[in-house]
Amino acid sequence: MSALEFEIHATDGAARTGIVRLPRGEIRTPAFMPVGTAATVKAMMPESVRATGADILLGNTYHLMLRPGAERVARLGGLHKMMNWPRPILTDSGGFQVMSLAALRKMTEEGVTFQSHIDGSKHHLTPERSIEIQRLLGSDIQMVLDECVALPASDTAVEQALALSTRWARRSKIAFGDQAAEGRALFGIVQGGTSPALRRRSAGELVEIGFDGYAIGGLAVGEGHELMVATIAETTPHLPANRPRYLMGVGKPRDLVEAVRRGVDMFDCVLPTRSGRNGQAFTRDGTLNLKNARHADDSSPLDPACGCPACATYSRAYLHHLVKSAEILGAMLLTWHNLQYYQDLMAGMRDAIAAGSLTAFTADFYARTGQGEVVSPDGIEPSTL
Ligand SMILES: [Zn+2]
Repeated sequence: MSALEFEIHATDGAARTGIVRLPRGEIRTPAFMPVGTAATVKAMMPESVRATGADILLGNTYHLMLRPGAERVARLGGLHKMMNWPRPILTDSGGFQVMSLAALRKMTEEGVTFQSHIDGSKHHLTPERSIEIQRLLGSDIQMVLDECVALPASDTAVEQALALSTRWARRSKIAFGDQAAEGRALFGIVQGGTSPALRRRSAGELVEIGFDGYAIGGLAVGEGHELMVATIAETTPHLPANRPRYLMGVGKPRDLVEAVRRGVDMFDCVLPTRSGRNGQAFTRDGTLNLKNARHADDSSPLDPACGCPACATYSRAYLHHLVKSAEILGAMLLTWHNLQYYQDLMAGMRDAIAAGSLTAFTADFYARTGQGEVVSPDGIEPSTL
């Protein structure tokens, strides 16, 4: 029994569009999940996040277990009530942030011990504790704890991480127990670096354990766009067609387009929100850096085809001024716009798949976004995720 129903309405090549149904609401796929790291999508009210078209948010187990603490969130009625988001929430397992943020990590078969990056306090995360935390948070879609290796890595390191991740996935499934009866779902995470054989093996082992959906993890960790897309293409055929597929932590608009074309249904990434706080805007005609002086006297809207408040009400010149002055409203407006752009991109792909015109959609996407500014990654603030 699964609490999650997945109904596919149309396909176009390997791409699919449909609805994921959970007791807390429906998710139109392909779907983009804004990241609500610390129980908030930074610079956005939850009503505004919903207004952009988001059906589901992502919460971070690592951040929430450290502050305010999973037990406290549970006492406050759970994550949905605390942050005023009544719709579905997916939580990650905490593993990725432990690997990327925490100090003094020690991995064993049992789990990982680490020090908080906030106050240095010592914590222990196991597959069982991760599921317990996600349950306390009230998560609708929980993720298994896995080990994600940074690429490039040796074949041995990738294979060992895969084997450990499969053992942890099995323990996570047992710990998850009968939460389907409470309306909750659990996703496995395919690992295996960029090796088609290891990806196939990981997918096969997870399908044998049996999950409500399957994530592709361990990508966008330094392998580059082409290799990432090739790895997705090697992975999706080995996942059940009737279960949702989620590409974790990805990515740029073109990554989303290429992954959808290869059969991915769900995404999350900090890029639209983080870029918005750094003066960078995604538009239908490519990426713009609002810090650039050429916008200082430009009275035109950011993206004339966009209906968000930043585009409907304000000029590029004003947004440039806000960004240059480090005004909070600049971060708010550009975050809203970027989330709107991502949701519109997903809606466009859903419509194109339904119409059988995803190839034409993709050609138009490249023809238009190729005209944007090339924005250096130097302007991006250090990771807080
Ligand atoms: Zn806009």
